[in-house]
This record gives sequence, structure tokens and C-alpha cells, in this order.
Amino acid sequence: MANVTDFNFAGKKALVRVDFNVPLNEKGQITDDTRIRGALPTLKKILADGGSLILMSHMGKPKGKVKPELSLGQIVDAVSAALGVKVQFAPDCAKAGDAAEALKPGEALLLENLRFYPEEEGKPVGIDKADPAYDEAKKEMKAKQKEFAKTLASYADVYVNDAFGTAHRKHASTAVVADFFAPENKMVGLLMEKELAAVDNVLNNIKRPFTAIMGGSKVSTKIGIIENLMEKVDNLILCGGMTYTFMKALGGKIGVSICEDDKLQLALDIIEKAKAKGVNLLLSEDSVCADSFSNDANSQICPSNAIPDGWEGLDIGPKTQEKFANAIKSAKTILWNGPAGVFEFDNFAVGSKAIADAVVEATKNGAFSLVGGGDSVACVNKFGYADQVSYVSTGGGALLEAIEGKVLPGVAAIKG
Ligand code: AMP
Repeated sequence: MANVTDFNFAGKKALVRVDFNVPLNEKGQITDDTRIRGALPTLKKILADGGSLILMSHMGKPKGKVKPELSLGQIVDAVSAALGVKVQFAPDCAKAGDAAEALKPGEALLLENLRFYPEEEGKPVGIDKADPAYDEAKKEMKAKQKEFAKTLASYADVYVNDAFGTAHRKHASTAVVADFFAPENKMVGLLMEKELAAVDNVLNNIKRPFTAIMGGSKVSTKIGIIENLMEKVDNLILCGGMTYTFMKALGGKIGVSICEDDKLQLALDIIEKAKAKGVNLLLSEDSVCADSFSNDANSQICPSNAIPDGWEGLDIGPKTQEKFANAIKSAKTILWNGPAGVFEFDNFAVGSKAIADAVVEATKNGAFSLVGGGDSVACVNKFGYADQVSYVSTGGGALLEAIEGKVLPGVAAIKG
């Protein structure tokens, strides 16, 4: 299979799907350029070979309409500065044939937001799923999506997908477009390669013991991952808000802690499954409880299954921190998704920090640690630990789907 490192891009036009969906402030200035920096190794390799770049991305959710506040025109200068090349801009991504044609080796062109066209996502607009005409509208939109992808493909000789963050979507630019390139002319980018290698380390190439830490607010959004991990891990730490669904299911008192009452049986099933698989399931024993959902709330440490009326568990307590840290420090493979508490409130971020400290220590001792998905990245960034773990994933939903064991359409379109 073709790859960016070995491919010689000299004289080739490369259509590169990047994730330039960067956050902007009200003045249209970039507040975090991580995603642009993430794509640079691939883009610089192509330019250094003497290739030219046609960059395509989405920004935000314009839902098939032109929205000036989501124009990628706002980031052209920043991309130029990052690349060290004056990037040109095509204000209509579906009418960029001439601009692409005129590109010389070493030049770069950025296309306007792909999602200004509904064809990018391929979902019919303005029609409800319940409408009897929906299926026909969807079929029509899929045909239009193919045409749109064909237009994008016509700009270039080679297709590179380096947008891991959208690899779980079967969109025109992330998957359909790949059908218009021969296998030797399509490949994943260097960032995507790193992401896939990191996922492989926790799904297939596991060094034991393997400890997974799943936190966050709800068990319902993590169940697919928990089930897949149950087949792989030695220690499974479940923390964060989902703790209290487990405590209630086990007959505990949880005060007004967050709880999914319709998932109590699911929690019991997870406990049983862990036993059956010989997985060491670690749940919170003590919680830092608050009398309101705020950083300034009064707080006290309580057993996680005996929380007083009117109080809610917002973080793991000291005993639990120690228990979890031990299972993390002894691990050789670590996956961390989701905070142990409401880490956005400094007073309830101590448990998440204790987990982060343990992950960093294990990493220093040779463990492979992958952090990603949802708020976990914000969490390691808050503690300034992003460069002290093995890998921080850039793909939220895509990472979670990959860990669930799902095939990512963006990867399948290239690798078959
Ligand atoms: P998720 O997107 O599912 O990973 O959830 C992340 C969110 O879970 C964060 O915003 C945390 O504040 C929240 N969270 C973690 N622990 C708790 C808790 N004990 N009670 C309420 N929310 C929590």
C-alpha cells in the first residue's frame, strides 16, 4: 500500500483532506492551532518532494449552507505562516478546477469549507426522516455526493487523508473521493498513521498488564468501548459520573449524583461480564461530594455508595485515587478516556490529576499510554501533561469508534 514517506510527490498534485476545523474567536482569529500543526509533517513532505497541495477541510457545522463566519478564508494567512508558503484560496470548493490546474510544484491551494455543500455529508436537507419521500431524497443526495467527490478528485493526481478526526464519517472528502483514485495513488497521511499505530498498540499490540481508565459522565455513551475493552484489558477502571449508576445498581445511596436509571441492569451486566472474563474491575470507593454543582460548593469525602441526601459525587476520593494509581503505575499499556470527576472545577479536579500523575509515571517507566476522546485531552492539557504521555489523540469520536473495534470509513476507503 502507498504511504506518504515512500511516495515521491514530485510534479504531482496532491488532494489532502486535513482537519482544519480550528476554534476561532469572535474576530475570526484562531484560538488553538493544534490541528494545523498536526497536518504539517504530511504537507511539508509533499512540498519538499516538489509536489503541490490542494487542501480541503470542513469547519463547524454549516449544514450545507454558505456561512461566512465558518469560511476557511479566515485561516489562509495562518496556514501560509505555518507552511512557510503563500497559500492561495479557492472561494468555492466545487469550482476550483482552474486554480488547481494552475498550481506549480511547491504551491498550495486551500479550498473553501466543504460543508457549505450538503453533498459533503451526503444527508438530504430540509426533509424529515419520517417523510415517505426521505429514502428517495437520500438516494438522490448520494448520487450528488458521488458527483461532488468526483469533482474534488478531478483536481489532483493523488489523494491523501490526514484527517483522523473525521475518519469515522463516510463523507465525500473523507471516503467517497478515494474511489476515484487507483490504490497506488491514495494513502493515509502521517498524522493518521500515528493515530492508527496508537490504536493498534491498545487493541492488538498489547504489552501487559493493560489498564484502561474510562471516565466521563455517562455509561451509555461508553458502553461500546467498555464491551470491546473487556476482551482486552487486565484492569478496567470505571470512574467519573458513571460511578453512581453502578453504586445505585449495587444498592448504594447516591444522593443527587448523576445517574442513568435506565442503565442499572447494564451496570450489573458489566460487573458480571468482568467477573466472567477475569477482568479486574475497579470502581470508586470514596467520593468528594458537593452540596451543589459548583466549584465553590461545600464538600466532604463520603463512601461512594453512601452519599447523603442532597449531596452529589463530583470527584474520586483519596482512597480511590490510591487504588486507581496502583493499577495504573504497574501497567505497561494504558488507555485513558474521560475524566474521573468534574475536572473543569479546580476543586474537583484532584482525582483526575492523580490519574494523570500515575499515567505520566507509568509512561516514564516504559508503559505505552494513549489519551484521547472527548474531554480527556482537555484534561491532560489542563495539567500540562500532553508531552508526558505516549500519545494524545487528535480524534474524539473517531478514536472512540476505533477503540470500539469499528472500521473507520475514512481508513477503509484507502486500505480496502
Ligand atoms: P464525557 O464527554 O462523557 O467524557 O464526559 C465528560 C464530562 O463528564 C466532563 O465535562 C465532566 O465534568 C463530567 N463528569 C465527570 N465526573 C462527573 C461527575 N461525578 N458528575 C457529573 N459530571 C461528571
